[in-house]
Amino acid sequence: MPDYQATADWASTQDAADPLRAFRDEFLIPPHEGHDSVYFCGNSLGLQPRAVREAVNAELDYWGELGVEGHFKGRLPWMDYHEFVRDDLAAVVGAQPSEVVAMNTLGVNLHLMMVSFYQPTPERHAILIEAGAFPTDRYAVESQIRYHGFSPALSLIELQSDEPNGTTSPTAIERALAEHGDRIALVMLPGVQYRTGQAFDLKAITTLAHQHGCKVGFDLAHAVGNLPLQLHDSGADFAIWCSYKYLNSGPGAVGGAFVHERHASAHLPRFAGWWGHDKSTRFQMGPEFVPTTGADGWQLSNPPILALAPLRVSLQIFRRAGMRALREKSLQLTGYLEWLVQTQLAGVLEVVTPNDPQRRGSQLSIRVTGGRERGRALFEYLMDHGIIGDWREPDVIRISPTPLYNRFTDCLAFTEAARTWSRSG
Ligand SMILES: *Cc1c(COP(=O)(O)O)cnc(C)c1O
Repeated sequence: MPDYQATADWASTQDAADPLRAFRDEFLIPPHEGHDSVYFCGNSLGLQPRAVREAVNAELDYWGELGVEGHFKGRLPWMDYHEFVRDDLAAVVGAQPSEVVAMNTLGVNLHLMMVSFYQPTPERHAILIEAGAFPTDRYAVESQIRYHGFSPALSLIELQSDEPNGTTSPTAIERALAEHGDRIALVMLPGVQYRTGQAFDLKAITTLAHQHGCKVGFDLAHAVGNLPLQLHDSGADFAIWCSYKYLNSGPGAVGGAFVHERHASAHLPRFAGWWGHDKSTRFQMGPEFVPTTGADGWQLSNPPILALAPLRVSLQIFRRAGMRALREKSLQLTGYLEWLVQTQLAGVLEVVTPNDPQRRGSQLSIRVTGGRERGRALFEYLMDHGIIGDWREPDVIRISPTPLYNRFTDCLAFTEAARTWSRSG
């Protein structure tokens, strides 16, 4: 364990020595009473990179000056705009460029992927998700089951958490597959669980589920830009994510999807649109849909340029910082926050997220001892003092130090505020 200390001196020395410290200046930190707030909500809405405004304005200018010609002219012609984010996106998720596409939003992509990868039969019709899945995942899965004429009562299998804080062991997944594997069509699990912050081993899950003949998809909403991923090597059939959390691409940002290379030219059922059509013949406007190979073949519409511009800027920041360096700092920061909570706030706060750094990303989910009302009181106290986390019912405060813009001194500020609060009542 590093020689953590709960002093301002120690924390600011760490910040000064941090090789990624300059990245903080590339973001707009929301102010609180004349100072930077302590922003720990990058897991919910990442902060705005300063360069976004200019990038969006540039597209507005092209539109104003070029009109329809903007599709072919300008620095970044709109016709191929989604391709300008592809390589950086692939690097962030550990995929080949042809395996990823930026499009739509998470919920839409989840449905599009299930159209292709959830093909229920009378023998194999079930979907395995976690109990306590994010609402959209549950609603999407239930509605797909119904759409195919099956019933969630029989075809929705919930993986129950089996560890004390609501986390799930690999053994629980093995057991669920051993018991139900031959009737499961699709295993649909998160990369990082939104409530507990638990990270899952994508490759181990995929290997196991494939042995049982199931397709595997991952919801990476809380994993992308948080953990270094190796999606291609994991072997997963598909994955989907949003880009407004750790990827800092703005409210309602364009999401993403991964389709493994082995499905690149497969004749899978899909909902088609003209932007998924083979690029070389798209503008012949023929009646027959011929999909582009790779993930691009799942696109429906021409891309929203004003929404892709922030993603392009943000992914360039990730390229310059590198996921490996970000993870290294993230381990330090989150490790420090955990140590502070354990040593300075014992008996007041309790970390729900797994203790093993390999089983988590940036986020710590923290429970206040003494129940929900005390938890709410602390949460509101923190917000009033410019320390921004978020609240998840019934009793969890999520705090996510993100390596692009959070500091060791931020972790200390959280601890000191929580201590002041606990002593005052
Ligand atoms: C944030 C999040 C979503 C949000 O879905 P949208 O379609 O982007 O609104 C879905 N699932 C999980 C697990 C999330 O964390």
